[in-house]
Amino acid sequence: MSEPTAHGPTDPAGPTGSAQPPVDLADEAAKLDAGDELAAKRDEFVLDDATVYLDGNSLGALPRAVPARLADVVAREWGELRIRSWSESGWWTAPERVGDRIAPLVGAAPGQLVVGDSTSVNVFKAVVAAVRMAREDAPGRHEVLVDEATFPTDGYIAESAARLTGATVRALPAAEMPAAFGPYTAVALVNHVDYRTGQLNDLPGTTAYAHHAGARVVWDLCHSAGALPVGLDAEQVDFAVGCTYKYLNGGPGSPAYLYVRQQLQDRFDSPLPGWNSHADPFAMAPGYVPADGAVRGRVGTPDILSLLALEEALTVWDGVDIAAVRAKSLALTDFFLRCVGAYVRGGRVRSVTPAAQRLRGSQISLRCSDAETVTAALIERGVIGDFRRPDVLRFGFTPLYTSFGDAERAARALGEVVG
Ligand SMILES: *Cc1c(COP(=O)(O)O)cnc(C)c1O
Repeated sequence: MSEPTAHGPTDPAGPTGSAQPPVDLADEAAKLDAGDELAAKRDEFVLDDATVYLDGNSLGALPRAVPARLADVVAREWGELRIRSWSESGWWTAPERVGDRIAPLVGAAPGQLVVGDSTSVNVFKAVVAAVRMAREDAPGRHEVLVDEATFPTDGYIAESAARLTGATVRALPAAEMPAAFGPYTAVALVNHVDYRTGQLNDLPGTTAYAHHAGARVVWDLCHSAGALPVGLDAEQVDFAVGCTYKYLNGGPGSPAYLYVRQQLQDRFDSPLPGWNSHADPFAMAPGYVPADGAVRGRVGTPDILSLLALEEALTVWDGVDIAAVRAKSLALTDFFLRCVGAYVRGGRVRSVTPAAQRLRGSQISLRCSDAETVTAALIERGVIGDFRRPDVLRFGFTPLYTSFGDAERAARALGEVVG
């Protein structure tokens, strides 16, 4: 018998593995799963063992507790209590209450997050408010810096927000932002993790440089919240937004969140001052007076069914240490890359996700010339990843329910498909 090859150096871009690796890596996956302190969390989700679900970075799996809660909200809170539920079932205060449940996952003290609307809409609120605030400090600040690899909606919204405020947009790589901040910068809008490559951008460094230059930052946490620690308060981030249907498992189209740092809340001048953010909404007054605190980020009537489904979904985080989530995420993505190195013929795929752990989110993106057909063939084999044009295969690793066995199976299927 030859030595197991699974422990040797492997590299997805390098030479292929030898004849024996399947047994070794499957074995190793089983051991890693046996030692995984988060392994029991998988049972809190509706998943089937026939499928390897690596698309939790697009739509998180359904937490088991959600259907019963949603059924109760519909049948009892809506069906029986009807309008009384706005007060008696806590509907009216749900946006802030659910925000406070997300807060520990992004390193925020209570009272700074409000849940509602989509990420796109919250990007708009944050960018316009940030430009207004920066202008108040220094009227000459006219530039909005946008991460050039941004998820498109952020870029479109920033462009419109800039036009409305008389600012201009400059797109540049996130890594170059620190050097680009100057007396004309109003705000930088940056994705914490790049949705296409899985690259983790430097939140502490970029935020510090922005503040040093007197500018504001808006971080988009769509691909980081729930996958890795985020230190919003510790890094004194000004504004942050993020969606809740990816790593937070809130369900399709579940409402997004907006974070406004506590010290800035009094100065938050929302471009969408709806009646829900009024200091006294039921006064139905003709003039707008903004509420204090996180409430100021609200617009109109919250989407209660989605919001309460999200609230229940967030119970899976009870007792979870986000540092353990990060450790498992890195172990999973490292292990997946090793399996890909062993199973996939050299040169067929190339990882575009940074190899360095400090630069990696919780996904692996592989460049592959026929990525679209490969994705379809994988789905046929029960391995659900996704495809980003023109040639990127994306595999999201959701530490609460992805196992090392899933990673091994996915890489093995990929080797078969591209082989
Ligand atoms: C998923 C995602 C969005 C989605 O925005 P919606 O308004 O929810 O459609 C926005 N930004 C980033 C970075 C994303 O990854």
